[in-house]
Amino acid sequence: MEKIYLDHNSTTPTDTRVVEAMLPYMNEFWGNSSSLHLFGREARRGLEESRDKIASFLNCRPDEIYFTSGGTESDNLAVKGTAFAMREKGRHIITSKIEHPAILESCEFLEREGFDVTYLPVDEYGMVSPDDVKNAIRDDTTLVSIMYVNNEVGTIQPVDEIAEICIDKGVYFHTDAVQVAGRIPVDLTKTNVTMMSTSAHKVYGPKGVGMIFVRSGAHLMPWQTGGHHENGLRSGTVNVAGIVGYAKAMEIAISEMDEMLNRVGTLAETFRMKIEESIADVKFNGHPTERVKSTVNFCFKGAEGEALILNLDMKGIGASSGSACTSGSTEPSHVLLAMGVPPEIAQSSVRFSFGRSNTLDHVEYTAMVVKEVVDRLRSMSPFYAD
Ligand SMILES: *Cc1c(COP(=O)(O)O)cnc(C)c1O
Repeated sequence: MEKIYLDHNSTTPTDTRVVEAMLPYMNEFWGNSSSLHLFGREARRGLEESRDKIASFLNCRPDEIYFTSGGTESDNLAVKGTAFAMREKGRHIITSKIEHPAILESCEFLEREGFDVTYLPVDEYGMVSPDDVKNAIRDDTTLVSIMYVNNEVGTIQPVDEIAEICIDKGVYFHTDAVQVAGRIPVDLTKTNVTMMSTSAHKVYGPKGVGMIFVRSGAHLMPWQTGGHHENGLRSGTVNVAGIVGYAKAMEIAISEMDEMLNRVGTLAETFRMKIEESIADVKFNGHPTERVKSTVNFCFKGAEGEALILNLDMKGIGASSGSACTSGSTEPSHVLLAMGVPPEIAQSSVRFSFGRSNTLDHVEYTAMVVKEVVDRLRSMSPFYAD
């Protein structure tokens, strides 16, 4: 049976060119990049060349990039690091209801520590309103954190506009840009974000590597302390091979972005059309225009999301219900609920996220299997009548 991967928002396969770039940093230049001797210097060269490369791709200074273990760690550092660094100025933070759990649970942690958090609503397409951000900012607000692209429905947030509002009010703005890489060009001289989190494994790089951009002049409290690596902001022996792989993955993503947007976007749109044409009572979730096209999220009324995923799995198709981080639980997606989808409909959601390896054959086969499975589950459901 052919395996069809339609879960690229959860993780992506590591590109073989990335693995090639990493190997010398495990086989030959395996030194500790903090060491003063030759072994350390060899590793450090790979680390700093990668930092320079990533800084040039994003158009920022190399010393504004701090490597971490991934998106989760960067999100935690941005939220908790700002809150604690600025707690004398104020104890209010603003975020949205559709953030990744790495942000939401960091905010919940802060609430338990006596901070005040405003969770902004979104519209039916999953979009945060810049006016809502403006109205929520108070004298004691220190941070606004709004994700760039939502991982469940692909909605692109108005981050540039929000960044302007925040800079006017003297408030830090962090954006979780994990779902952006290779999909939207980012130029950090053209946007006023204070901090931006990313992750390598969502862009065909290795797992366990990411970074946070912190604009020079901004101050965070280090969240992980120890040997003062990464300019004291993130201690821990640096994952040089992973970082070299990340820089390579970003280079490939940028050089192949047009291909990704055109070819993969067209495949996803074709899939969406086929589903909407062949199956009744489907609800497409996401913004009509401000959306990353490779993400296609549907509710199939009367068919339970988890059952759909398991049945697709038996046919060799990997898709996801809600976000991967919350699957295994039967809670409906917090993102769909925030978009006003009723809980019983939200339970029937499936996310198909397309990527480089997908073909038109995958689209046709998957659309056919989805129809079969939805029809069968609905015919067995006591709650569905067409
Ligand atoms: C995957 C993801 C994360 C977590 O990144 P990790 O590197 O897996 O820790 C955070 N935010 C968003 C939007 C994501 O999609």
